[in-house]
Amino acid sequence: MRGEAEHRVLKVDSVVAALGFVSNLGPLAEWGLELNRRSIVVDTRMRTTVDRVFAAGDVTDYPGKVRLMSVGFGEVATAVNNAAVELDPELTLFPGHSTERS
Ligand SMILES: Cc1cc2nc3c(=O)[nH]c(=O)nc-3n(C[C@H](O)[C@H](O)[C@H](O)COP(=O)(O)OP(=O)(O)OC[C@H]3O[C@@H](n4cnc5c(N)ncnc54)[C@H](O)[C@@H]3O)c2cc1C
Repeated sequence: MRGEAEHRVLKVDSVVAALGFVSNLGPLAEWGLELNRRSIVVDTRMRTTVDRVFAAGDVTDYPGKVRLMSVGFGEVATAVNNAAVELDPELTLFPGHSTERS
């Protein structure tokens, strides 16, 4: 039913929490992106310095960056919507509200 989440209890041997304090760009460091130490520099559209490559989340850097989950969620929305318009200029940057759809 709409709005009700399904919950399942899973038996597992262990849970691995992938928490870390030091980021590692791995192969991304070789992509030619402008970096600030171990972070990827983006503009307000979450564009990197490489054409059509967007980034979001803790890995990004810009003045005033705050590394929190809620910030990353917002950055993803910004990145995806800007990428969509770049791929299809017929689209509008603002995708609308899901609450306004029937
Ligand atoms: C100890 C700790 C406590 C925190 N507490 C809070 C809190 O209370 N509230 C809050 O809002 N924020 C908190 N944060 C910050 C929050 O965890 C981050 O802002 C958020 O997780 C960033 O999400 P992300 O998806 O950008 O990056 P991540 O959550 O780091 O996800 C990146 C993922 O990419 C994977 N990855 C990395 N390199 C590669 C590769 N080469 N190939 C494939 N996968 C790769 C990593 O394994 C990881 O799973 C905390 C952070 C830490 C470290």
